[in-house]
Amino acid sequence: MQLMDRRKITYKLFPTAAQIVQLGNLLRLHKDLWNAALQERIDAWRKVSKSISYEDQCASLTQIRGELPDDWAIMNCSSQQVTLRRLNKAFQGFFRRVARGQSPGFPRYKSIQRMPGFGYKSHGDGWRFTPAMGQRKGKECWKHGTLRLQGVGHIKARGMARQGGTIKSCEVLHDRGEWHLSLTVECTDIQREGGGMAVAADWGVNTLLSLVKSDGTTEPIPNPRWFKEGQARQLELDRAVSRKKRRSKGWRRAKRASANFKAKSARRRLDHHHKLSARIAGEVAIFATEDLTIKNMTASAAGTLDEPGKNVAQKSGLNREILDTAPALLMQLIAYKVEETGGQFIEAPTRKLKPSQRCPACWAIKKKSLSQRTHRCACGCEMDRDMAAAQVVLRWAMQEQFGQELSKAA
Ligand SMILES: [Zn+2]
Repeated sequence: MQLMDRRKITYKLFPTAAQIVQLGNLLRLHKDLWNAALQERIDAWRKVSKSISYEDQCASLTQIRGELPDDWAIMNCSSQQVTLRRLNKAFQGFFRRVARGQSPGFPRYKSIQRMPGFGYKSHGDGWRFTPAMGQRKGKECWKHGTLRLQGVGHIKARGMARQGGTIKSCEVLHDRGEWHLSLTVECTDIQREGGGMAVAADWGVNTLLSLVKSDGTTEPIPNPRWFKEGQARQLELDRAVSRKKRRSKGWRRAKRASANFKAKSARRRLDHHHKLSARIAGEVAIFATEDLTIKNMTASAAGTLDEPGKNVAQKSGLNREILDTAPALLMQLIAYKVEETGGQFIEAPTRKLKPSQRCPACWAIKKKSLSQRTHRCACGCEMDRDMAAAQVVLRWAMQEQFGQELSKAA
């Protein structure tokens, strides 16, 4: 099956000293644009209770560009639109949460430190990326390359992609003195290896994901070793900060080291999740999982009405580990990619179905505490807890989708 898939490739940029100044300048201009556009929306709302649309702001952008040719004209026009669109998205999200009765924070003015970067639309419009070729496991792949940016010049980029594709758009990202390029490419030659299986997943502590597939196979996907190592290192760095005298030179240095490491881990994790979700999306037609009850799990650490405070310390420890591996983010990426490749992402009703308490063989409820890692049922079914939960979700999903009868017998 031929599929289109969009994926992101991250490169580290190595600008020269002069280019760093120019990149900083561009970032500042985008920050000013964000703040000015935000101001305009707020003013219009206060004065005439009118909400300004993205299209309105794009139109006035042309006006502004005409009036201020010296400063703003060095910015690429569609790149400015990307920033305006991002603000528009922030507002849409804000109004959506208000409509749901939540009280979200209003979109904020940004300092240059809080400005994550700026984006570009069509390849060739103000930017061009030229990938270099390399070898990986004997196969040709994209390795490093050069980014040409309007007003900045040619910047060296380092990074690797298993598979290249048609370059679509990009973002230039800034974080504590480091610059990265996030490239969106479209690949057309990805094969759906499983021919469109149904797959159910459970996420847990020992394994990041436990996959159960409709062809009868299972696949545990472990947490990469560096997840745990990274957590230990982060703890060390944070302890070093708390040992130092507040606001001393050493304290500042330790704080910077901790923040840098945290940002690096987050990038590595995101990259890992992107690759994993792309692979899964390429194999499945239906992906089913429990709805994300992470919040409930965390809350339940305090105990229930019947059993207040039971296993509080142990449970909150487990919960912290579950939260640390950020399954919510991973699930979002999987959902997005599965749907993008024409598949279906289904969330099972956790409360009704109780996958972690149910026997996948006989469908009976078998209560387990969070620390109990193995499912053992009177019917003779015995397997890993997360795998059992994934099996339950898979059976439920097949029933939902194809009306397959769930046999109550063992
Ligand atoms: Zn059973």
